[in-house]
Amino acid sequence: MEKHQELVSIVLPVYNEEPGIETMIDTLESFIANQPQNFEIIFVDDGSSDKSVEIIENNQNLHKNIRLVQFSRNFGHQLAITAGIRYTKGDAVVVMDADLQDPPAVIVDMIDKWHQGYDVVYGQRISRDGESLFKKATASLFYRSLKRMTNINIPLDTGDFRLMDKQVVHQLRQMNEADPFVRGMVSWVGFKQTAVTYERQERIAGTSKYPLRKMIRLAMDGITSFSSFPLQLANWLGSLSIIFGIGYLIVSLFTTMDTIHFAVFALFLMAGITLITIGMLGSYLYRVFEASRRRPLYIVSRTVGFRSTNKKTTN
Ligand code: UDP
Ligand code: MG
Repeated sequence: MEKHQELVSIVLPVYNEEPGIETMIDTLESFIANQPQNFEIIFVDDGSSDKSVEIIENNQNLHKNIRLVQFSRNFGHQLAITAGIRYTKGDAVVVMDADLQDPPAVIVDMIDKWHQGYDVVYGQRISRDGESLFKKATASLFYRSLKRMTNINIPLDTGDFRLMDKQVVHQLRQMNEADPFVRGMVSWVGFKQTAVTYERQERIAGTSKYPLRKMIRLAMDGITSFSSFPLQLANWLGSLSIIFGIGYLIVSLFTTMDTIHFAVFALFLMAGITLITIGMLGSYLYRVFEASRRRPLYIVSRTVGFRSTNKKTTN
């Protein structure tokens, strides 16, 4: 295939990005204009309540490579990516934030690696500008613990900014996971994967749409969908507690100890361990429950800019 005939799809999840979306589109369009490939830009509006959709549509009138998939409400970043990927027609698909934190210039490096035969090229952050120390520290801790807990190779310090060959996209389309953890799923499918490093920029405008609550949910989805470690933790904690109890028995035979205080301490410790373990079980059970309901993963209310007329309304 000639280079210029290749089609690259860019998927951008959008949730209330009104302040910066216009700049994002301008930057992306001028980047694309200098590239030898053809591009399609797929915005997935994840239930924005601001003017994001209006701005995208106005630009769609000017640039025919823009498409829009609109959700009926906010379903979350990971589902917006899942949906966007399903609407792509490209030989390769790039997923990136709609806030210019992932610089378009990195796509050139990604395409180079793709041409060298890699099927997945993920962006690995060597620095993160403008993000709080708390976010950097928790993200770093999360990626490192996840790596230890899972038996698949989820790369460190990568978000969802990546290029995937259409083979990989085809596999992802078949996976119909409730509460998907997309970056884990991409690692799980395998193929030839490599990294390009980049410096994560500051948001051009607006604020992060990932409050702590959503970050914790994403982390839990990552853990419960790729690791059984927390379930095994109950065995370890139980064993430890038995050893602790025997140790106490032995010590108490030879010394006089403050039994009441120890009993209160032991009670709290045991209640803590038991409740945490039940909570963990609950998280896994909830995943099973979600999957068993067989609801659509998301609902698309409208699409703009796609040539085919058969409108896809659910997954
Ligand atoms: N996003 C989304 N749905 C959400 C939250 C975020 O589609 O519920 C989009 C958001 O518009 C952005 C991307 O997902 O394009 C990543 O979110 P954000 O930039 O707020 O996360 P951060 O970069 O701060 O981790
Ligand atoms: Mg961002």
